[in-house]
Amino acid sequence: MTAATPLSLAAEASSLLSSLGVAPERLSGGTLAARSPITGETLALLPEHTAEQATSLIADAHTAFRAWRSVPAPQRGELIRLFGEDLRAAKADLGRLVSIEAGKILSEGLGEVQEMIDICDFAVGLSRQLYGLTIATERGEHRMMETWHPLGVTGIISAFNFPVAVWAWNAALALVCGNSIVWKPSEKTPLTALATEALFQRSLDRFIAAGGKAPANLSAVLIGGRALGEALVDNPLVPLVSATGSTVMGRAVGPRVAQRFGRSILELGGNNAAIICPTADLDLTLRGVAFAAMGTAGQRCTTLRRLFVHDSVYDTLVPRLIKAYGSVSIGSPLQPSTLIGPLIDQAAFDAMQSSLAAAKAAGGVIHGGDRTEVAEAPNGYYVRPALVEMPAQTGPVEHETFAPILYVMKYSDFEQVLELHNAVPQGLSSSIFTNDLREAELFLSARGSDCGIANVNIGPSGAEIGGAFGGEKETGGGRESGSDSWKAYMRRATNTINYGRSLPLAQGVKFDI
Ligand code: NAD
Repeated sequence: MTAATPLSLAAEASSLLSSLGVAPERLSGGTLAARSPITGETLALLPEHTAEQATSLIADAHTAFRAWRSVPAPQRGELIRLFGEDLRAAKADLGRLVSIEAGKILSEGLGEVQEMIDICDFAVGLSRQLYGLTIATERGEHRMMETWHPLGVTGIISAFNFPVAVWAWNAALALVCGNSIVWKPSEKTPLTALATEALFQRSLDRFIAAGGKAPANLSAVLIGGRALGEALVDNPLVPLVSATGSTVMGRAVGPRVAQRFGRSILELGGNNAAIICPTADLDLTLRGVAFAAMGTAGQRCTTLRRLFVHDSVYDTLVPRLIKAYGSVSIGSPLQPSTLIGPLIDQAAFDAMQSSLAAAKAAGGVIHGGDRTEVAEAPNGYYVRPALVEMPAQTGPVEHETFAPILYVMKYSDFEQVLELHNAVPQGLSSSIFTNDLREAELFLSARGSDCGIANVNIGPSGAEIGGAFGGEKETGGGRESGSDSWKAYMRRATNTINYGRSLPLAQGVKFDI
């Protein structure tokens, strides 16, 4: 590791936070250690919210919702338009802070902020839509329609690996839909959350200065651990909890929210696969697989984890992949030449090593996977991504290990590989690489991939905001971001209006008094 690290990351983070508008008192004197996985160093000790403070912030957000719901939606969109402008201006600083705190390479840190900008643009357009239907009615001189209304406080719980984009997917839609928001970011990435909060406050100030009507406490951030997430989960003033993280977290959150008849959007773990068919363009496949499996050091929910390669191309493709795994550049994510940054922490490294040991015990042949020493970062957990040739889909292949491990398996029969593809508990993202139309269409059909995302000749990782994002089975079933995902942030009312002078009853029922 060279140039970028000698300057203390703590000093650099502090200067970025200051330019992004975070008040110094939010960054010191507390108990929550914000770390950088680049060196393992502590960047700041943040004050944490108590459960009582969380309850009070949720109550304040509920009061804000009662005012915000009456602000016309296109005016709500104007606030998001301003936020998009502020994000554009701050993209370089916030993107770099994402890299420092989450460890992703700079181009991905910037890409994450671009994703926030993209969803703001989408939400601004949406603020002039939020359409309901007019529905044919069986009764004369009647009209039936549906209207969409704001829901209330939207609780957002997010994971460390997309520390700000996931909040933006939820926040931009929730706000134009007329909701207030309370965010519990990952305790591993509190600094980027504080920076985002400060930027949003900047946009709110500009909105109000220009005559916009935004109530106080429209948005809040809860700094701390799981207990603060639980404060959102259990509070009846939060009708919708959008929770992104592990399946273990979703298994705890989903039933608790349902217990009080709240709604949840669950965006949980994936175990994403790609099928490489005999007619695949192998150059394109190599690039698609390399980014999807190794990018972000395997720490994306959509990371490619299982690769099924047809036996006619196995011996051509897999040695090339093993070579790419052996030569990919590993180091500080702030260096432009780096493609693989660090794992988030030691626990992630330990989980990776234990999955590799289990894969070996199940007959796997491991290439890579060892810890890589990076100069000046003895406490950073850098690894060479692992490619594991597996005899079958068993043991650790069936689980998500949040690290760069790609399990490679040979197949010969397309129908059988489709069954294997779907034979895991998770259902987030999937891909097929083929130039055979029949295979491609079958993969996308009702008999094909059972995932929320299914791609052809593109890896499973790296979604655009225009489509609905989410997955099936243990991935939780939620949808966020584009398409009609906004409907989850609103409540639907069906309205029937009688503009006649008689009162015909539905289904011809008679009730004459
Ligand atoms: P995590 O489950 O450890 O934590 C996620 C968030 O949930 C954190 O803010 C945490 O404090 C909170 N939390 C944990 N338990 C809770 C509980 N019982 N009640 C309320 N809140 C609770 O996840 P992580 O390690 O930060 O992130 C990695 C995981 O997230 C992976 O499994 C990855 O696949 C998944 N992920 C999924 C998506 C998606 O869209 N499907 C996106 C990003 C990450």
